Amino acid sequence: MSTQTPTARRVAAVTDRRIAGPDAQVDNKALVLEPGKPARHDPFLLLAEDWFSTVGFDWHPHRGQETVTLVLEGRAEHRDNRGGHGVLGPGDAQWMTAGRGLFHAEKAYRGEPVHLLQLWINLPAAHKMDEPRYQDLRADAMPVRREAGVEVRVFSGRSGDAVGPAANVVPVTMADATLAPGAAYAQEVPADQNGFAYVIAGSGRFGADRTPAAAGQAVHLAPADTGADGPAYDVLDIEAGDDGLRIVLWTGRPVREPVAHYGPFVMNTRRELEQAVADMQSGAFGEIPTT
Ligand code: MN
Repeated sequence: MSTQTPTARRVAAVTDRRIAGPDAQVDNKALVLEPGKPARHDPFLLLAEDWFSTVGFDWHPHRGQETVTLVLEGRAEHRDNRGGHGVLGPGDAQWMTAGRGLFHAEKAYRGEPVHLLQLWINLPAAHKMDEPRYQDLRADAMPVRREAGVEVRVFSGRSGDAVGPAANVVPVTMADATLAPGAAYAQEVPADQNGFAYVIAGSGRFGADRTPAAAGQAVHLAPADTGADGPAYDVLDIEAGDDGLRIVLWTGRPVREPVAHYGPFVMNTRRELEQAVADMQSGAFGEIPTT
């Protein structure tokens, strides 16, 4: 082990979620990472927080990205046109790699209210046409890092000795951390990854400058300043306030490619978006089930 003290990551900005309100699908929606600014959040494209019940997201296509869904309250029911079906409860996540294309539906189980987060991760050009893939990541099956007053459930990447099981295309760290009032820990962040912590409950202080943030805010990490020959990881210091803290931390290695985005399709060029629509219409994504 190196005796070198890891560099402490700094916070670049703290942003408020934007409440978008109800629409035809949802009872309420907030945007934590706004779409349309891919360079700002690379490799992440958007993070939406949704509350829905009777309607939800009926059959729709995707191509060219991954969607990661984390249920906060209630149950979400998922179906796809490749035979996939499942119900996710609180703390469960689903990691869908849309790849070359599929149809799926995301609904509230039995029409009861569900509250969830959905993150979109860009896929590099070399992987946009990969075979679609689902990973069910059940909360009770995830490795947990435990320290005094700290519990970190690791879905992807690592925290301490806990290594998440998610297979990655773009390397991503995803951890759901709950801290008792006043508790603290240091979350490793690969030096080549950028990202954010979204505060789900409570409040805390983050990073080298102990930047404060509270529920509904996203804490955006500055790039590592470890240098090209520096250590592979630095650390984000996280400390809970008097009311405790729950965050989801997402960091990832930037893709650094042009992004062309149209609805549920995320490609590199406008021409590829047109091809995605043509492929979907000609049946290359398969058919929408009729039952
Ligand atoms: Mn979807």
